[in-house]
Amino acid sequence: MSITANAGDIDRRLLMDRSVAGRKAFTLPESDVPSQDLPDSSFLRDDVVLPEVSQLEVIRYFSVLSQLNFSIDTNFYPLGSCTMKYNPKINDELSNLPGLADIHPLQPDDTVQGAIRLLKNLQDDLGEITGLPGVSLAPLAGAQGEYAGLLIARAYHEAKNDSKRTVAIVPDSAHGTNPASAAMAGLDVVTVRSDDQGNVDVDNLRELANENTAVFMLTIPSTLGLFEPNILEITKIVHDAGGLVYADGANLNALLGLVKLVDLGVDICHSNLHKTFSTPHGGGGPGSGPVMVTDELAKFLPKPVAIQTEDGYALGTPEQSVGTINGFHGSFSIAARAFAYIKALGLEGLQSVSENAIISANYIQAKLRDKYNLAADRYCMHETVLSATKQKKRGVAGLDIAKRLLDFGIHAPTMYFPLIVDEALMVEPTESESKETLDHFIAVMRQIDDEIDASPELIHEAPHDLPVTRLDEATAARKPVLRWTADE
Ligand SMILES: *Cc1c(COP(=O)(O)O)cnc(C)c1O
Repeated sequence: MSITANAGDIDRRLLMDRSVAGRKAFTLPESDVPSQDLPDSSFLRDDVVLPEVSQLEVIRYFSVLSQLNFSIDTNFYPLGSCTMKYNPKINDELSNLPGLADIHPLQPDDTVQGAIRLLKNLQDDLGEITGLPGVSLAPLAGAQGEYAGLLIARAYHEAKNDSKRTVAIVPDSAHGTNPASAAMAGLDVVTVRSDDQGNVDVDNLRELANENTAVFMLTIPSTLGLFEPNILEITKIVHDAGGLVYADGANLNALLGLVKLVDLGVDICHSNLHKTFSTPHGGGGPGSGPVMVTDELAKFLPKPVAIQTEDGYALGTPEQSVGTINGFHGSFSIAARAFAYIKALGLEGLQSVSENAIISANYIQAKLRDKYNLAADRYCMHETVLSATKQKKRGVAGLDIAKRLLDFGIHAPTMYFPLIVDEALMVEPTESESKETLDHFIAVMRQIDDEIDASPELIHEAPHDLPVTRLDEATAARKPVLRWTADE
């Protein structure tokens, strides 16, 4: 038997398949306590098979596994609506300092003054960035920030005995969490149309805003990556009808130091620290979605809120708080990263983050618009939504293009969202990518378009060199294989 030479071979066996009886990966220290019998041997199961492997085998297994993932640290990741950008490693290190990492949420306030002061300073910074000075860092995700913000809107109307205001108006282009959060907060969702430019249809909004309107929710920038040109008119219509304006500011990457949400007529917003402010995300968590409000609404914020007192810093409860929305004061280590990130950049640095994010997205848009249709043919903000309708007519769908990008080491853009754009490919390059990386992406996108006529099978069968190719995603989600079973 001969062995084929292949220097790139990687051992992809599962841990169980590497098992050899008697091997082990650990050495326990000498016991220094008296041994005890196990409480009840009936708890012990001998049908559970565990892998028996050496330490080196474990290290190789997990190292290989870690390299199966796409990540910002390895590849360009232009995932629209989710800001997958480089998060400076020093902020991870800072948030792991013992004084920040080794404290407990139930410690008395006077033993964690520095930590509470950090929360208070971050609240102030987010208040400054958005112009909405009432801030609670409690929400654990963007969606929870929305939920908290909508509870505040409800509490505001109830405090005025205005109980018929039960409607949340949400554009058809909204992020999916918006109508879901509104429903969870007990509001009835009414949809306002987008016009053919991707803006809110102002006339339709005027028809819908009335004495039942509790709140109007708008994603800023819009899910098409656009600045809403009629924003002042829109917020005036809502305010004139007695409603509040909620901005989904999950992605502040285009607005830092350039626009204060309060100046647009926004009363309540949330922002995702795990997108814009230096926390890696993906795979479901952890997250942090602080909620920011006007002074007038601050008394309704969820608790706790960090406050400054005569003796120092404390965690307080706003007067008419909507209550607790999770166990403690939110994701502390994410707050620490965000604080370090904001302080390191300063206002000027934050502004250049947004300027560069916007320039990068517009650069890609300008270099691809002769090949790909645009959801809206005008300057974009931090992301651009391409539409592969011309490619679809030639036999290649948005999905195929996304799969082909993987062959070039590029993560797929967000696909088929927003729902109002056919064959949407939503590209967010972020400020952290170099011009060379953007040029590579542009060249690859242009080449894929050429391949449609020259060698379409290359696209239809993509990706070619990855450990897994085209997955049956629905079955994978519904019938996940979570247990190792021996080969027959
Ligand atoms: C990501 C995102 C959300 C939801 O944030 P989660 O932390 O995933 O709950 C809401 N709105 C917009 C516009 C987003 O991009």
